[in-house]
Amino acid sequence: MYDFAIIGGGIVGLSTGMAIGTRYPTARILLLEKESTWAFHQTGHNSGVIHSGIYYKPGSLKAQLCRNGCQSMVEFCRQHQIPHEVCGKVIVATQEKELPLLENLYQRGLQNGIPVARITAEDVRTIEPHVSCLAGIRVFSTGIVDYQQVAAQYAELMALQGADLRLNTKVIHIRDTADGQVIETNQGSFAARFLINCAGLYSDRIARLGGANSPAKIVPFRGEYYELVPEKRYLVNTLIYPVPNPAFPFLGVHFTKMIDGSVHAGPNAVLSLKREGYHKTDFDLRDTLEVMTFPGFWKLAAQHADEGIQEIIRSFSKVAFVRSLQRLIPEVQMPDVVPTHAGVRAQALMNDGKLVDDFLIVNGTHSIHVCNAPSPAATASLEIGKAIAAQVPAPPTLTLAFTS
Ligand SMILES: Cc1cc2nc3c(=O)[nH]c(=O)nc-3n(C[C@H](O)[C@H](O)[C@H](O)COP(=O)(O)OP(=O)(O)OC[C@H]3O[C@@H](n4cnc5c(N)ncnc54)[C@H](O)[C@@H]3O)c2cc1C
Repeated sequence: MYDFAIIGGGIVGLSTGMAIGTRYPTARILLLEKESTWAFHQTGHNSGVIHSGIYYKPGSLKAQLCRNGCQSMVEFCRQHQIPHEVCGKVIVATQEKELPLLENLYQRGLQNGIPVARITAEDVRTIEPHVSCLAGIRVFSTGIVDYQQVAAQYAELMALQGADLRLNTKVIHIRDTADGQVIETNQGSFAARFLINCAGLYSDRIARLGGANSPAKIVPFRGEYYELVPEKRYLVNTLIYPVPNPAFPFLGVHFTKMIDGSVHAGPNAVLSLKREGYHKTDFDLRDTLEVMTFPGFWKLAAQHADEGIQEIIRSFSKVAFVRSLQRLIPEVQMPDVVPTHAGVRAQALMNDGKLVDDFLIVNGTHSIHVCNAPSPAATASLEIGKAIAAQVPAPPTLTLAFTS
């Protein structure tokens, strides 16, 4: 009997395991991951940005955990010699109508306690000489890192703490028992007193298997990227973002200098017809039917038909994608970018068509389910892990040790 079983070896599951191991050093911890490597899905297919926390609603979990997570991520990388860089970023308004939104964002940054500064178009050009804009914000604490490397370090630390880490182990069924849960996998059954679901793109299905009542369904949104060809990397020094559409949780296509020196442009946001579908043609009947028969999806589609159509056009047309990039850097031309990897976001959607904005953690019997952990959950992973570790019940072995 394990004290804790964690489902999902992405950055959130691994950080949670590590945090529980730190809080309860004698606890027996099991982590189950269906893939043959750690952090294969969202964690291994993202932009690699250590977000500052400027965007999120003041007082929300995202705002708190991202701001603190940004600091703890940088400290963790320093401590474990993981390559990273706090290069800062600029957010720029390219049209008159974006100026009030840019100002709102600046005020939000101040409210969230983020080091930000209003800068003029000339100031922007001293940082990013190829950008054309009306005004900008400089966010000083934004950084870049490879989150797969961070997650691998979490896994190593969990192993050192004595946790039982299992790859190639897919959870198929969960049974609630009097004193915990029995988790059935393709590698046999495991009993645990308490279960933590960090299954990312499958977190809603695992929550249902575990008997928890999640109010939301995961809808997969693919984010596709282009990459600047090496001879054009000089166009971007740090990270360049547009002013985001406040109705959406996505940030708009932007330029990101990656920690390996490459420069990525994107991601867009298109509905994926497969939860782990990294290509435009990927299709899964069950995943598609689940979205198409979910009333929340049609309400969302009706509210955002225009934006949805624009995203689809941008997905299939390089011309449209490049046009979006030219709003930030007019010099970028079609031959300057080539398609590169894509990622799929696990975005929770409510029955009423509202995208769940904040991180969502749902309690079940003998269980906790992370039901919405999209961006900036990689940045905030150390803080999410600590927050979950503070909520789980102390293992009985430990309680006995204290009381005897
Ligand atoms: C395109 C894109 C760009 C992003 N950019 C950033 C960024 O720049 N900065 C940032 O902070 N965040 C970013 N994010 C968000 C960030 O990547 C995620 O929030 C974070 O990786 C979520 O981690 P996770 O552990 O919850 O999910 P995942 O990394 O998806 O891990 C979940 C794991 O659960 C496993 N699993 C699922 N079902 C089962 C099962 N039945 N049995 C066993 N295992 C199972 C999966 O195989 C997977 O490994 C981005 C995301 C995307 C998609």
